Amino acid sequence: LVRLRARLAGSQGALGRGLLALLSRDRLDEDTWEALEDTLLTADVGVGPTTELVGTLRTRLRVEGTGAGEARAVLREELLNLVDPSMDRSLNLDGDGPAVVLVVGVNGAGKTTSVGKIARVLVSEDRTVLMGAADTFRAAATEQLSTWGQRFGVDVVAGPEGSDPASVAFEAVRAGVEKDVDVVLVDTAGRLQNKAGLMDELGKVKRVIEKQLPVREVLLVLDATTGQNGLVQARVFSEVVDVTGIVLTKLDGSAKGGIVVAVQRELGVPVKLVGLGEGPDDLAPFDPEGFVDALLG
Ligand code: GDP
Repeated sequence: LVRLRARLAGSQGALGRGLLALLSRDRLDEDTWEALEDTLLTADVGVGPTTELVGTLRTRLRVEGTGAGEARAVLREELLNLVDPSMDRSLNLDGDGPAVVLVVGVNGAGKTTSVGKIARVLVSEDRTVLMGAADTFRAAATEQLSTWGQRFGVDVVAGPEGSDPASVAFEAVRAGVEKDVDVVLVDTAGRLQNKAGLMDELGKVKRVIEKQLPVREVLLVLDATTGQNGLVQARVFSEVVDVTGIVLTKLDGSAKGGIVVAVQRELGVPVKLVGLGEGPDDLAPFDPEGFVDALLG
């Protein structure tokens, strides 16, 4: 976790340093507030939250003074508010029968990698896991998942290339029930050429699973480097399935940590996990305090 935090500080530190440098100017004039806005927008915080934050900072710093110490404390508090530490970020895995976790997102976002990493975390918590390779359109996805599965001793249910994703998902859940595992993780395809197609496919996957068991979590995997475009995708997915949590990948490669705030606002669901690299250990629960501290260096 310490290593992950260090990596986060490496990629996100520029934002915090930029904000702190602006707030430690001798005079907080209009230029400063504009520059602050620009910095936040560039980091993908989004227009609404940016306006809110700058407004609050203006008021508070006028009242509470503008020394570097005060500015830092106020900024930390307000950034934390923006990330919303009150959201429940745990995975909902408890209950009868295997907990089914559906993992969705566009191709390339890091879905399959995240499914593998999540499996590893669950195994390390002594849970039994099964993975369903319902991304049947990308041949490599099934291979990728099998490789992760072999590494961690997790079984993978797959179908032939091009087979019906819903039938693979169904079989995976059936096998999960039969083997009485704790969690069934279902990878899905993320072709986004049109919403109707996606709606049909994902909707069917979910319906078919729910003939056997409720879906406890729908995790949307989002690439932090895709900015506003990623938000548009997120909206489309959330219209198709009830997203319960976000996995934000590639935060290691993006200085735009503000996307955490933007996507939570957009979907009204918490970022639960973050991806900080390509390796099996590079996944961490999202910790608002740690995140803000990494920002501020
Ligand atoms: P999918 O199409 O959504 O299943 O995407 P993949 O899981 O195949 O991932 C696409 C690429 O992103 C691969 O090269 C992954 O190694 C890489 N990737 C996934 N998550 C992360 C992450 O958190 N950080 C970095 N740097 N790369 C990642």
